[in-house]
Amino acid sequence: MVLTVAVLIAIGTIVFTLFVRRQDLPEPAPVSPTAHLEERKAQIYENLRDLQFEYRVGKLSDHDYQQTKLDLQRELAAVMAEIDRVKAEIAAGKIPAPAPELVKAPAARAPAKFICPSCKAEFAQPLKFCGECGKPMKVAQA
Ligand SMILES: [Zn+2]
Repeated sequence: MVLTVAVLIAIGTIVFTLFVRRQDLPEPAPVSPTAHLEERKAQIYENLRDLQFEYRVGKLSDHDYQQTKLDLQRELAAVMAEIDRVKAEIAAGKIPAPAPELVKAPAARAPAKFICPSCKAEFAQPLKFCGECGKPMKVAQA
């Protein structure tokens, strides 16, 4: 139960971060047929990283860790299958292929939640000191 709440909060934070980011962007990322799936995939990877981190620092029991990891991996498999399906449909001409310049962005822009105030380096995990410039990071963590 506690884990469920923690996971929901984590997901909520990520969604919120993405949502705020999107609004801040000068021009919105163009949409390709798989963009939302790639984004979901990136989110799941991020959740897996968070999960691993929380497990390493002892916030999660073995059981909770394995269970949540399994859930995330299952979801990841479903998302990947859906991406393959959409790509197959594009290849079969059922969906118009996106222009090349539309394809890139979303997957590459993985959500980094912790940004160094000094050099703006981005990290997926909270750090006391920036791994790039070594200055203390005051992390606004959820
Ligand atoms: Zn830095």
